Amino acid sequence: MTLRVTRFAPSPTGELHLGHVAHAICVWRIAAEHNAKIVVRMEDHDRTRCKSEYEHSILDDLDWLGFVPDAVSRASLNSHPSAYRQSDNTERYAAAFEKLKQVTDVYGCSCTRAMMPTSGPDGERRYPGTCRGMPIDREGRFVVRARMPGDETEVEDLLLGSLHQQPQHDQGDVAIRDVFGQWTYQFCVVVDDMHDGVNLIVRGEDLKPSTGRQWLLAKLLGRTAPFVTAHHPLLYAADGKKLSKRDRSETVRAMRERGMSREAVIAAAGVGVPGAGRQGSAAPRMSPGDPPG
Ligand code: GLU
Repeated sequence: MTLRVTRFAPSPTGELHLGHVAHAICVWRIAAEHNAKIVVRMEDHDRTRCKSEYEHSILDDLDWLGFVPDAVSRASLNSHPSAYRQSDNTERYAAAFEKLKQVTDVYGCSCTRAMMPTSGPDGERRYPGTCRGMPIDREGRFVVRARMPGDETEVEDLLLGSLHQQPQHDQGDVAIRDVFGQWTYQFCVVVDDMHDGVNLIVRGEDLKPSTGRQWLLAKLLGRTAPFVTAHHPLLYAADGKKLSKRDRSETVRAMRERGMSREAVIAAAGVGVPGAGRQGSAAPRMSPGDPPG
C-alpha cells in the first residue's frame, strides 16, 4: 500500500486563528482516515508578508492545541535552516527552475492584473500570453512566467470526486517568480510537495482552481506519482461568518489569553466542519495514529 503523506502548510502572515484550527481538524481527521503522515511546512515564500514571530506563535499554538505532526518536520522547524521552511530553501526552487527551463518556455512578463480578463469557472484572471518570447532578465518590474501545456487535467478529490480542469484555458501561463524576485506560491508548493513526497493534499475549496495547474507544473518538473486532493468546504463560524485567513477572526493566542481551554478552542473552530461535533468537549490528542472524533 502506498504510504500517504499530507501536510499542514500555513503561511506565517499572522497568528493562528479559528480558520486555521478548523482546517487543521480536517487535515488531522483525513490523515487519520488514510493512515497518512502529516508534514508541517512553513510557507513563508513571500518575505514581504511573513514574519518569524508568527511562525513561532503558530507552532506554539499547534503544540498547545495538541495537533501532532510528523516529528521530523516539527523538530526541524526549531532550527535554521530547515528543510520545511520555504525561505531556507531557495536553492531547491532555483534548481527546479533550471529544470523547468529545459522543458518549457519561461519569460519575463510586465503585464498588470488589469490587462488580464477574468475567465474560467472560478472567475479567476486569465493571463493571455502577451509577453511570451520576452527574456527573463527584462528591465524594471516583471514577473517570470512559464508556458503551460494545453492539457485538460483530472485529479481525484476524496470529497468532490474527479476534478476536471483546463488550466491553460482558465488561467493561462503560471507565474513562477513575482515582481520582487520571490518564488511564487504555485511554484514553491509544487516543488515542496514533490520534495516531501506529499500525495494527499487537504485544503480549502478556495484553492481548488490551483489543483490542475499544480499537477501540470509537477508533471513538467518530472513528477509521475499522482496525488489526490481533499478540498473541504470553507468554514463558517456560528454567526455564519467565513473563517479564513483574510478575516480578522479571533486568534488562538487571544483565546488562550482569555483563559479558554484547548478543548473549547477546538470546539469553537469545529462549528461548520462536517462531523466535528463528534469531538465534543473532550478533544483528543490529535496525532496521525489517534483519529480525532
Ligand atoms: N500556504 C497556503 C495557505 O496558508 C496553503 C496552500 C496549500 O495548501 O496548497 O493557504
